[in-house]
Amino acid sequence: ARPTIAIVGRPNVGKSTIFNRMVGDRQAIVEDKPGITRDRLYGTGEWFGKAFNVIDTGGIEIDGEDEILRAVKVQAELAIEEADVIVFMVDGKAGITPADEEIGQLLFRSGKPVVLGVNKIDNIKMQEEIYEFYSLGFGDPIPISGAHGIGMGDLLDAAMVHF
Ligand code: GDP
Ligand code: MG
Repeated sequence: ARPTIAIVGRPNVGKSTIFNRMVGDRQAIVEDKPGITRDRLYGTGEWFGKAFNVIDTGGIEIDGEDEILRAVKVQAELAIEEADVIVFMVDGKAGITPADEEIGQLLFRSGKPVVLGVNKIDNIKMQEEIYEFYSLGFGDPIPISGAHGIGMGDLLDAAMVHF
């Protein structure tokens, strides 16, 4: 079976941007299973001849910190079930937030392989912003810029190790 990558993280870190980079112009399918997957996008990607499924989690617009965290947790739990590898996405411009820490703990407890992607590292000067993310406990943070398409290969290489 085709391995599945789930992209998990709090809102606005760049999950959908990364998803679009991975999927490219391949059609993304909106699954419409009421109550469960209505806000998730499924697509397929390919890297060095190996096809994979990719899930973009948490597309809902929600207000308030508590609501956000609850929704993200639900999404993370669903993604954990389905995924072979989780791409944990954080925002290198914003730094670590309490929501990142909560999601990190949830992912850590799952025992599933996690690759940590630090998005919004748009240029070389921002490289040093990745170091604080070591404290999340997922090994080497991988600098990426979804906006500029930087680091996507490194991220996919790291994910593929777990296929
Ligand atoms: P999501 O909520 O996690 O799916 O995040 P989105 O992909 O919707 O992106 C949230 C915001 O961050 C948007 O305004 C994007 O344009 C912006 N963004 C995404 N990737 C990057 C990046 O690599 N660099 C910068 N500077 N902004 C980005
Ligand atoms: Mg999104």
